[in-house]
Amino acid sequence: MELSNITFMSCALSIFHAGMLLLLLLLSVLGVTMGTKCEEPPGPSDWYKKWEQCDGRRQSPINIVTTRVRRRHFRTLKIEFDRLGGLVTGELKNNGNAPTFFVDEDKGTAKLKGNHLKGTYKLDQFHVHFGCKNNRGSEHTLNGHRFAAEIHFVFVNSKGRIAVVAVWLRASKYENTILGRLANQMHKIIDVDESTKIRKSVGIRLMRLIPRKTRKHKTLVLSNYYHYMGSLTTPPCCENVSWFVLKHRVPITDYQTKFDLGMLLLLLLLSAVGVAVSEQCEADLQDGEDFSYGDTTSQAPGPSDWYIKWERCGGNRQSPINIDTTRVRERKYRTLKIEFDNSGGLVAGDLENNGNYPTFSVDKSKGTARLKGSRLTDTYVLKGFHVHFGCENDRGSEHTRNGRRYSGEVHFLFEDPSGRYVVVAFWLRHSTTKENVILGRFANQLEKIKEVDQSTEIKKAIGITLMDLIPHKSRQRKTLILADYYYYKGSLTTPPCCENVSWFILKPRVPITDYELSQFRTLEGRYPKDPPAMCDNYRPLQPRNGRRVYSVTNLK
Ligand SMILES: [Zn+2]
Ligand SMILES: [Zn+2]
Repeated sequence: MELSNITFMSCALSIFHAGMLLLLLLLSVLGVTMGTKCEEPPGPSDWYKKWEQCDGRRQSPINIVTTRVRRRHFRTLKIEFDRLGGLVTGELKNNGNAPTFFVDEDKGTAKLKGNHLKGTYKLDQFHVHFGCKNNRGSEHTLNGHRFAAEIHFVFVNSKGRIAVVAVWLRASKYENTILGRLANQMHKIIDVDESTKIRKSVGIRLMRLIPRKTRKHKTLVLSNYYHYMGSLTTPPCCENVSWFVLKHRVPITDYQTKFDLGMLLLLLLLSAVGVAVSEQCEADLQDGEDFSYGDTTSQAPGPSDWYIKWERCGGNRQSPINIDTTRVRERKYRTLKIEFDNSGGLVAGDLENNGNYPTFSVDKSKGTARLKGSRLTDTYVLKGFHVHFGCENDRGSEHTRNGRRYSGEVHFLFEDPSGRYVVVAFWLRHSTTKENVILGRFANQLEKIKEVDQSTEIKKAIGITLMDLIPHKSRQRKTLILADYYYYKGSLTTPPCCENVSWFILKPRVPITDYELSQFRTLEGRYPKDPPAMCDNYRPLQPRNGRRVYSVTNLK
């Protein structure tokens, strides 16, 4: 990690060496500007001669050997942001060692807490370490493997103690939008000591850059990380730094070659070479990757180009499809049912405008739901639901039935412990005479998330009782029995388009009124087709490619 003014204080003895450090920085700069290109700054093996602590026993970085780590449960580690989406402003500076972003605290910063940390650590700056080739660059290694780069988020508490959240960047064909936005600024700081102001409009939203377990309103909950006590990785090498190295890697691409107009040139050229596609497919685009439903722009690809960024979107089992009722096969399967924790299927959670659709994430600690039966061999747990809708009443649904598009479509996303997905879907049919009370309550909350990245907490008192929303055959106290649905194997309808999603599309349609539709249409989109409204957020139909669609009723 690099030094900021605050980190100097934390290691008071070494403050006398600030002059030395400057000299070192200058030297390393010469190395860069004189064309030795991206070489290590001279002399790490001699740092200890000037900075005694650099020869200490608790130095960083280290190699993390996964067969030798110990599993521990600590208090939840979380980052709380002052602003929605973790938006930060500040100054991006080329300090000669790494491009460093100094956060303007007055305009909103982030606080790290939890694990063993006492009190709150405030985000001071973050910076990137990178390699001359994409097989190196990260400071920490994992079982001897070095990643293309590593970001250090440096948090400091009031006593000058330091905690660093480290994120590995791996070469990938997938890109991270926030990294891209930073990359776009690099040409302004090619020379050492150059800096540039990063304003709000640049849109550096850290919540979309830091891999996390869950996000809630302005809080990221981190899990799956390595923790150890170490040091600063640059002089004065102060020890007692708490390290949190996140296991999930963020992709960095050749697409982001702009990142390196100065120092980073090589990294990104080279990151084009090694393409690492992770095996598992997670529904969340947790790395700040953007897509749109409109035409492809430099900011986000439209549906016909999704596959360029997310290979799976070009697969042959994609969703949505048209359901041709003359060609479906009739089947009787075991009863499909949803069991809720709370009576009536009451749920609480967060409602968010993610720029593409309104999405409700269930707070599982307050009760969720489990799906089982039919062709499923496991129990799937409800993650949340979201709505696709049109700018006009004659469109909006993703799946069509005999070519007909409905005004909207609701997707309930369920997940099993091994990360497989099931979607229970139903169509919203425009109606002037009927109304669904729960959909009305849901629509009434949308004014709170009109802008992109806004979110609001949905408390139990609002009364979102899912048993009154999901069309069913019969209900018991906490259980819904579903019947009469179409079943087929497809994919998520948004990137990364994970395949092997089991679709259950309920045949009964839920009515939606003009008023409710108008409430949906006030939502703004990130890259909307019909600016600023997010409506028409449905993916074009995908080829069926010989897949069978079943029309299912329950075994008696
Ligand atoms: Zn660093
Ligand atoms: Zn959906």
